[in-house]
Amino acid sequence: MPDPTDDRLGRLRAAMRTRGVDALLVGPSADLRYLVGYHALPLERLTLLVVPADGPAALVVPELEEPRAVDSGAAAHADLVTWSETEDPIARVVDRLQVAGIDLRGTFALQDRLWTSFTLALQAAIGGASWVPGSSVMRDLRLIKTPAEVEALREVGAAIDAVHAVVPDLLRAGRTEAEVGRDIADRILEDHDEVNFVIVASGPNGASPHHETGDRVLEVGDAVVVDIGGTRAGYCSDSTRDYAIGHLPDGYAELHAVLERAQDLAVDAVRPGAPAEAIDAAARDHITAAGYGERFVHRTGHGIGVEEHEEPWIVAGNDEPVAAGMAFSIEPGIYVPGRYGSRIEDIVVVTDTGVERVNHRPREVVVV
Ligand code: ZN
Ligand code: ZN
Ligand code: ZN
Repeated sequence: MPDPTDDRLGRLRAAMRTRGVDALLVGPSADLRYLVGYHALPLERLTLLVVPADGPAALVVPELEEPRAVDSGAAAHADLVTWSETEDPIARVVDRLQVAGIDLRGTFALQDRLWTSFTLALQAAIGGASWVPGSSVMRDLRLIKTPAEVEALREVGAAIDAVHAVVPDLLRAGRTEAEVGRDIADRILEDHDEVNFVIVASGPNGASPHHETGDRVLEVGDAVVVDIGGTRAGYCSDSTRDYAIGHLPDGYAELHAVLERAQDLAVDAVRPGAPAEAIDAAARDHITAAGYGERFVHRTGHGIGVEEHEEPWIVAGNDEPVAAGMAFSIEPGIYVPGRYGSRIEDIVVVTDTGVERVNHRPREVVVV
């Protein structure tokens, strides 16, 4: 549910007027949740939020989805327009644009992840328009979190920290990754609304950063990478810690000390005005100097908010300066194929003067 004190549609309309966009069309997506609080199902039946630069927004929904739309509270932000099973929903959208007095030869922003089937139907029905990506007007809103959004990220951060606090009780030699993963998912749901992902990557599986939690049985001497996240009150958590069963494998203590230092250096590099790529370099240069550069195979971080992966990307080549209100992960990793992997991930928020971590679990390896 969008914060009622935060006039997101008002700020969106200001961005649309600045960029000469006459209307924004948004299908089921994080943008839809962000704007009106409706978690719509991505269905073959059209659900579309129509936001004119001037005039009231409308949420066009299939009749059978209307109860869900009503429950979401979206009607506080947009008029609900339902279409019945035998109607043409695209015609309802065009009607609505005409009622709002929008020139069908104007400029329309289409939400970036709208299905092609809807995009093509809209473009066919509104033949003379110009089309721009929805992100051209949504990006700045989503990128800079309001104080209420930052508070939501702190709360969901605390919720995932509480799960990492009990992970040592769940990891035992003889259990499979999948068994541990199911227990972790149950714990996530104690203080989240949804589980977004659970990665339990043991032993050699740890060398695959997005390992699919599977049937491998945990053994004494395994390092285990646990990367978990969920959604709570519309905002996402994402945190990684490393564990070991019984004792650390050979070489892991040295590797992990390098990683802990690299993660600290990257967090310390976060301040308003710092280029995103400089934050990446702070972690990467340290890991490279220690001889593990080729083992750090991904970017240092990604933005987070109503989506678990969103802008900004903390990666070489992105020279955009970070700014107060941006939230992103700092998650360097070192992966040694055939043996083990390691990653430490915290979410940070850029403040007016520096940085705030929203995850607070100890970062050293926990031996269970
Ligand atoms: Zn990831
Ligand atoms: Zn992440
Ligand atoms: Zn993660």
